[in-house]
Amino acid sequence: MSGADARAGFLHRRAIVKAIVEVVVLSPALVLPHAAFARQVAPKADRYAAPRAALVAELRDQSRNDAGTTTQLDPAVLAILARVPRHEYVPESERDNAYENRPLGIGYGQTISQPYIVALMTTLAAPRAGQSILEIGTGSGYQAAVLAEARAKVYTVEIVEPLAKQAAQRLQRYPDVRARTGDGYYGWKEHAPFDAIVVTAAASSIPPPLVQQLKPGGRMVIPVGSSFFTQTLLLVQKDANGRARTRQVLPVRFVPLTGGP
Ligand code: SAH
Repeated sequence: MSGADARAGFLHRRAIVKAIVEVVVLSPALVLPHAAFARQVAPKADRYAAPRAALVAELRDQSRNDAGTTTQLDPAVLAILARVPRHEYVPESERDNAYENRPLGIGYGQTISQPYIVALMTTLAAPRAGQSILEIGTGSGYQAAVLAEARAKVYTVEIVEPLAKQAAQRLQRYPDVRARTGDGYYGWKEHAPFDAIVVTAAASSIPPPLVQQLKPGGRMVIPVGSSFFTQTLLLVQKDANGRARTRQVLPVRFVPLTGGP
């Protein structure tokens, strides 16, 4: 072998080693699948991050502008709305509208409430970690999820069975949420009394069983009025002696509370 041949052989071997290093160590084919996998998992959940943040900013501004006229939204509640994926609680066809500040249809003639109203009702109910909260009208399950994010124990009742089943499935991610099908007019006696009760359908008057199932010092948020006209959102507070005091908060529009006597 000549000196030139030996050198060519050496260069050749070096080229092979370099190629192997490139293929085995640096190959994008080996690195990228992980990156591609990460991209697939994260952004799916994140696709709505920007519209969700924009909605929360809008609610914060609205609350600031309302200062002095109505209840200010609790910043802790807004932080919860900033992380609960509302798009997962609406039908596929409504997903792209999920971060607009308005109610949306969820089937069976029912609606998921407007985000502002969810934030306001949650602020008024003031759930705290470990408290028991009863919700009447599970609907999509979104309001129950918001209450659960405040680390409260949530009991939620829905009268339309397919909605109740679908919501119960969505809410499985929260071990402290119990959901059942039934007539919420009568509350949920087995788990009473509650620190707070949130009624998300309009009653013609306050159901007495719900007042009974409220703890002394407890709060109930409930829209009351005719199902054809505007209703009034009421905050009912039970004092330490069990006497209920009612405050009118805001004109609202909810689907009717059915059931009852
Ligand atoms: N909280 C819901 C809003 C649902 S709209 C959400 O976050 O999506 C009100 C719901 O109340 C409807 O699904 C309706 O079927 C339910 N409802 C009406 N009357 C009821 C009753 N007596 N008991 C339980 N649920 C009732």
